[in-house]
Amino acid sequence: MGAIIYTRQSLEKTGMEAGVSRQLKDCRALAKRKNFDVIAELSDNDISATTGVPRPSFEKLLRFVESGGADTVIVWHPDRLYRKLTDLVRITEVAQQHGLTIASVQAGDVDLNTPAGRMSASILGAVATHEGEHRTERQRAAYRQKAEAGEWHFSRRPFGYRREGGKVVQVPEEAEVLNTVLNMYYAEEVPRYAVMRYLNDRQILTPMGKPWGIIQVRDLLTNSHYAGISTYNGVEIGKGNWEPIVDAQTWHSWQSGAAKRKRKSTFTAAKHLLTGIARCAECDGVIYVKHRADKKLSYFCSEKGCVQRSMTPVDELVSEAVLLRLQDPAVVAAFRTQPAPTDHLYTERAAAQARLDDRAELIADGTLTAQAVREAAKPLRARIKRIDEQIASSDATDLIPMDLLTGDTRAKWAAYSLARKRAVIRTLMEVRIATQGNTRVFDGEAIILIWA
Ligand SMILES: [Zn+2]
Repeated sequence: MGAIIYTRQSLEKTGMEAGVSRQLKDCRALAKRKNFDVIAELSDNDISATTGVPRPSFEKLLRFVESGGADTVIVWHPDRLYRKLTDLVRITEVAQQHGLTIASVQAGDVDLNTPAGRMSASILGAVATHEGEHRTERQRAAYRQKAEAGEWHFSRRPFGYRREGGKVVQVPEEAEVLNTVLNMYYAEEVPRYAVMRYLNDRQILTPMGKPWGIIQVRDLLTNSHYAGISTYNGVEIGKGNWEPIVDAQTWHSWQSGAAKRKRKSTFTAAKHLLTGIARCAECDGVIYVKHRADKKLSYFCSEKGCVQRSMTPVDELVSEAVLLRLQDPAVVAAFRTQPAPTDHLYTERAAAQARLDDRAELIADGTLTAQAVREAAKPLRARIKRIDEQIASSDATDLIPMDLLTGDTRAKWAAYSLARKRAVIRTLMEVRIATQGNTRVFDGEAIILIWA
């Protein structure tokens, strides 16, 4: 009959922990001393037995003993073999049927064939379990300490950052994307699903190399590490030692703004007349809004930053152009047959999305399992999909509301909601913002309107 050397390396590296090579060396020495015939050396590496992750070599070992191929297992310490009671139960069962002795470097021999042996094995196992739990606690304390010291601990790389020589550094292309989407979401109040679409339209992938889902986008937009804030279990604990995307002050004001927005639970597709409508005349990039230091707003090219223009004169110019255009009888005639506005669709969509978001939060705070929420979310998702399709098909033929074409057009336009104004602009024209020579004075010529 033969002996099997079994070694295992767990994740934690403490002073007391012997590495696999050290375990193996000691086990081989023990086998030699006791004249065991070693028929196999098995090892499970870097898998902690307390997590319940299967150990392939442990399974192989059981099969070895069951098939009558071995009667002795050599381990460094019994806790290498069974960290959990279920492991001990399994190995004891096998041992009783086939006869098995555990020889250990640290704790002597355990004969599982005798009641006394089994009892000492279970005591050793109990001690090992306790140590396993204790280590996890120690590990948690270590993580907390690291967070307090401003270290960003992550096992999966977050979007925008990576580890380089023990330091957390920005990934420049991703940091730029982050800056854009954080501003879209918080400063522009672009909804989450639109941020998701923005990322996926540009084929920007998650760090896992996949398209973005709404939950991942939420995690992305609410990760305070991007503001250089070190957290532990979601609680702010210190200042991070990595370069942030936004400053902490801006972040905090964004968070309180977002909380207010949520309470109102209203749909804010866009806060400005031309965001997402106007394009950069230089690179065709989408135009978004930049909040300048002097509290004024500018349109800017979100793609490459080619152009930047004060918002108010651009909005005025476009509004005047709309009103002029609507005085043209040919234009009026051309739009007579257009369908009804889509505002109600946006409202319906916002309501469905808000309910979906509420459910996601129930997972986050542990009220419901992810599975239960997924089930409950199905009809909501289907509904949002239907609304999106309706919006998409009506966007294509967009509309001039009939009442705008008669009577006091200017007064009616002024009273219109932003969403309706935007829909009208989309129907009538394309807006391009070009660079201008003298940037101090607004040049209307640099705003190019292309009539539909
Ligand atoms: Zn551009």
